[in-house]
Amino acid sequence: VIELGTPTKSVVTTCAYCGVGCSFKAELNGDTLVRMVPYKNGKANRGHSCVKGRFAYGYASHSDRITSPMIRDTIDEPWREVSWDDALGFAAKKMRSLQKKYGQKSIGVITSSRCTNEETYLVQKLARAVFGNNNTDTCARVCHSPTGYGLGQAFGTSAGTQDFDSVEHSDVVVVIGANPTDGHPVFASRLKKRLRQGAKLIVIDPRRIDLVKSPHISAAHHLPLRPGTNVAVVTAIAHVIVTEGLMDEDYIRTRCDWDEFLDYAAFVSDSKHSPEATTLLTGVHAGELRAAARLFATGGNGAIYYGLGVTEHSQGSTTVMAIANLAMLTGNIGREGVGVNPLRGQNNVQGACDMGSFPHELPGYRHVKNSDVRDVFESLWGVKIDPEAGLRIPNMLDAAVDGTFKGLYCQGEDILQSDPDTKHVAAGLAAMECVIVHDLFLNETANYAHVFLPGSTFLEKDGTFTNAERRINRVRKVMAPRNGYGDWEVTQMLANAMGADWTYTHPSEIMNEIAATTPSFAHVSYQLLDDKGSVQWPCNAEHPEGTPLMHVGGFVRGKGRFMVTEYIATDERTGPRFPLLLTTGRILSQYNVGAQTRRTDNVVWHDQDWLEVHPHDAEVRGINDGDWVRLTSRAGETSLRVKITDRVSTGVVYTTFHHPDTQANVITTDYSDWATNCPEYKVTAVQVSLSNGP
Ligand code: SF4
Repeated sequence: VIELGTPTKSVVTTCAYCGVGCSFKAELNGDTLVRMVPYKNGKANRGHSCVKGRFAYGYASHSDRITSPMIRDTIDEPWREVSWDDALGFAAKKMRSLQKKYGQKSIGVITSSRCTNEETYLVQKLARAVFGNNNTDTCARVCHSPTGYGLGQAFGTSAGTQDFDSVEHSDVVVVIGANPTDGHPVFASRLKKRLRQGAKLIVIDPRRIDLVKSPHISAAHHLPLRPGTNVAVVTAIAHVIVTEGLMDEDYIRTRCDWDEFLDYAAFVSDSKHSPEATTLLTGVHAGELRAAARLFATGGNGAIYYGLGVTEHSQGSTTVMAIANLAMLTGNIGREGVGVNPLRGQNNVQGACDMGSFPHELPGYRHVKNSDVRDVFESLWGVKIDPEAGLRIPNMLDAAVDGTFKGLYCQGEDILQSDPDTKHVAAGLAAMECVIVHDLFLNETANYAHVFLPGSTFLEKDGTFTNAERRINRVRKVMAPRNGYGDWEVTQMLANAMGADWTYTHPSEIMNEIAATTPSFAHVSYQLLDDKGSVQWPCNAEHPEGTPLMHVGGFVRGKGRFMVTEYIATDERTGPRFPLLLTTGRILSQYNVGAQTRRTDNVVWHDQDWLEVHPHDAEVRGINDGDWVRLTSRAGETSLRVKITDRVSTGVVYTTFHHPDTQANVITTDYSDWATNCPEYKVTAVQVSLSNGP
C-alpha cells in the first residue's frame, strides 16, 4: 500500500534509469516525495513512462543509503565514520603519495553513465587536470563503446542519427540485439504504435522477444541467429541487396565515398557471404534472410534500432560498422523515418561519452593527441594535458595486477558486479593501495575500498542527462542531498584537497564551461534548456536550437564511409564440455544489477533470475520446469532455476543479470571487442546440469 500525501509542489526532472530519458513531475508534500507523474510536455516521452521511472524511486530513501564518509587503512579493517574533511584529506594524501612512489600514471578514475554530464565532465577533468594523466574511463566501456567507435568511423560522430519522433515516419524497422519492450519501454510503445499503423518489422535476435509476436503485432521476419554471428547476418543482408541491385546508387554516389563503396560491394558480393552460404554458420534460414533483405531495401523508409546484443561482442564495433554500411547502402540516413539508432541502456551513456570520459578523448570526441584541442583546455584549466591516451578499465585492472596501477576513484559504478571476469576484477582491486568508492550504497566494489564517499541520487542534485536521441534534459534538485553534497561537489572537494582551486558554485557553471570548450554544446545553457524544455546536440551557431536529425544533406565527416566488415568467429567456442551458448538480457521491472530497483519496496519485483532453456535441451538433460541447475562455463559457475521455453532455440540458453546471487559475470569470459575492449557478455559457452540449488 502506498501512502500518498497531497502534493504541495512539483519539480520537473528526468528519469535516472534507461536511455529514453522520460521527463517527470516529482510531486512533493513538504520535503516528502509522494509520486512521480510522467510529464506531458517531456519531448522524449510525451506523458508516458514505464514502471521503473514511475515507481522505482524508493531506493533514494532506503535504509541502506550510506550518508557519512568512511575510511580504513586496509580492507580487512572495519569502516570508521569520519568528517568530510578527514575523508577527503585521507584520500588526497593517499593518492598523492601513490603518485610520488609509483609515478603520475599510477592512479585513475572511473565515472558512470548514471551520473550527470556535469559530474562526468568534472571526473575526467580531475584525471586530466589534477592527476595529470588520461586514466579516465566510464561504464560505457562495457556497453556502448563500440557504438562510439563504429558510428564515429562511418559517419564522423558517435551518436544516434534520429530523434524518437522519427519512428512515426518509418516504413520498415529493423530491431537487432535489443528488446525495447523490456529495456526501453516508452520507445517500444511508440514503435508498436507505428507497427500497428502498418510499418513492417524485422527482428534479428537469438531469442523470440515480445516484438516478434504480441497482441496486434507480428514481425514480418524474425532471424534467430546463433549468438556471435551478427556480422555474418548483416553482411549476408548486404550481399542480397548488392547482388540483386537493390541499393540506392544515387544516394551512394552523392553522399558516400564511391571508391570505398566499390571495395565494399566487391567484398559483400562474394558468394561466401550469400544467405545460403552462411546458414550453417548463423542458424538463420536463407530464404527468410533473403526476404528480410529485400523488404528492408524496397519497403520505404528503413530505420535500424540496436542494443547491447550488437555491441557486447568481440566484433561489436564491426557489427556497428556493418549496420552503418547497410543504412548507407539503402539511402537510409539523413531524413525522418530512417537512420541508425543505438538504444542506450543507462540514462546518460550518451552524455558520459560526450563529456570526454574515455582515456583517448577530450569532451566532444576529440583525441588527446590533437594539440589544438588540448590548447583549448590547457589555457582554461592552466595545466598541461598529457598527449598520450590513458588506460581503459580493463587496462587499469591488468596494470593493478601487474603492480603499476595503485589508486582508483570510482564514482557511481560497481565494477566488481558489472564488469566481466569477476575474479580478475577482484584481483585488480585487491592489488590497489587506495580505492575510493563514491556511491549510494556499500556495493560489491566497496569491499575492496579504503575510502567510501556517500553519493547523491538524481532527486538530490541539479544537472543534465543526455538521452539516446542526443537530447539534453534537465535534472532538477527535488530534495536536499542526504549526505549534504551533490556528487559534483564531492569531486570538486576531492580535487581541491589534492591541490586544485576549483570554485564552481552550481552545475550551470560547469555546463557553461562545457559549452565554452565543446563545439557541439556551444549554445547549450541552463537558460536555453529551461526555455526549450530540452535540446538535442549539436546545439551551436549553425543549429542554435539543436539538431533532431543528423547528417541531413551530408555526413559530419563529409562523405559517408563504407567499411569492409569481415566476420571473425569469437574465440569462445562450444565443445563437448560446454555445448550450449549463453546470452543475456533484462526484464521490464528490474534495472541492471538491481541496486536501485531491488531497494524499492512499493512494487513487487520478480524474485530471481531464471535460465531459459529450449524443451529439447531440457529433455536430454532430464530437466523439468522450475528445477535448479548448475550453469558452468570455462570461467566459473552459478546456480539458477529453469524456465523451459521455445523462446530460445536449441543450443542457446538465456538469463537476466539483475540479482546479485546469480553473479552472471562469474561465468562470462574475458574476451572483448577488438576496437574498444567492450566485454563479450553476450556469448558464453556453457553446460547446464541438474543441481540441488545454490
Ligand atoms: Fe525511465 Fe526508461 Fe522507463 Fe522512461 S522508459 S520511465 S526513462 S526507465
